[in-house]
Amino acid sequence: MKTSVVLFLLITFVTLNLKSQEEYMDQSVQDSLRKFENKKFHSALTINPLNYPVGQKPKNVILFIGDGMGTTQVMAAHTANKGELNTTNFPYTGFSLTQSADNYITDSAAGGTALACGKRTDNGIIGEDTQGNALKSVVHLSENKGLSTGVISTSAVTHATPASFVAHVSSRKKYEDIASDFTETDLEVIIGGGLHHFTKREDKQNLLEKFSKNGYTVAYTLEEVQRANVKKLIALLDTIHLPRAEARQDMLPKSVERALKILSKNDKGFFLMTEGSQIDWGGHANNTGYIISETLDMDKAVGEALAFAMRDQNTLIIITADHETGGMALMEGDFSKGKVEAAYTRDDHTGVAVPVFAYGPGAELFTGVYPNTAIFEKIVFLLNLKK
Ligand code: MG
Ligand code: ZN
Repeated sequence: MKTSVVLFLLITFVTLNLKSQEEYMDQSVQDSLRKFENKKFHSALTINPLNYPVGQKPKNVILFIGDGMGTTQVMAAHTANKGELNTTNFPYTGFSLTQSADNYITDSAAGGTALACGKRTDNGIIGEDTQGNALKSVVHLSENKGLSTGVISTSAVTHATPASFVAHVSSRKKYEDIASDFTETDLEVIIGGGLHHFTKREDKQNLLEKFSKNGYTVAYTLEEVQRANVKKLIALLDTIHLPRAEARQDMLPKSVERALKILSKNDKGFFLMTEGSQIDWGGHANNTGYIISETLDMDKAVGEALAFAMRDQNTLIIITADHETGGMALMEGDFSKGKVEAAYTRDDHTGVAVPVFAYGPGAELFTGVYPNTAIFEKIVFLLNLKK
């Protein structure tokens, strides 16, 4: 082969690789695991459905978004965890229809915007309607009412899902603009990846200096997060995305635990969004092990939230997804061994409805089948937020 051809192939390979790395960090790691056997187990908290208040409104809302987490992904994790999850113990369930304004199959930008802002927009757009008008998210509305707010993700915090609660950009790829929009909010807790979008920017600004000036404690490690007894915390734990669950050392559950300590100091209440970002990347990679370990990781974080909510009695927890990824089906399973075998119909998102699980005051409102935007409406109603 000629040198120029080799060079061309090399450059193409590197460029393609960088591109996919930006969107889905770990696609290169194909464990070829259609089959998966769970080596770990975590026990789930049980809820007494007979001793359950209805017709009440919560003071606090915790919203979990499993990116790409359809019913099959939940069932796979439930099976792998030997037949129990915190998520599947939730007493109220419903289905969310995930379509975006311009597509039957949503992406995470439009899907996140629908959940965060209650409006369907075109794929790729974050926090704006189809005409480019900025939308107020449940974070902005909660801040207006004096609630504390938080955003946690296992991707960069500038990635589509967390960004939908904070930013207004015409393209999800405008990571540095999204980081700038974080400085316009009053979030008490920001935990995830994305450090370089705040510090290694084209405009040479170091946004973390702004956060320090505004009273934030800036953290770079999980240890610092766990110790942070502060009023406002921004913790950027990786340059872009965090590593997979196995390497994150319970970053998500530990972050939720700490966030709840910080946010619950506010007597008026709080809103917290927590994303299991990488369930989606496991789906794109058709990697059963990746999907299950990420779903189990989020379920552990749900366990932290549930333990808090059961003590507090004034907190609504909602678990849902922006869309399903992979067209995943279960072909074989064994509860006693935690074994799952899955098949996939594609390496992208699908249009199937995703499950919604709810616990706490107002949970009964989440039964039924409704558009994704209704989740925003229900939260606004339950927290008495003004649009
Ligand atoms: Mg996401
Ligand atoms: Zn995706």
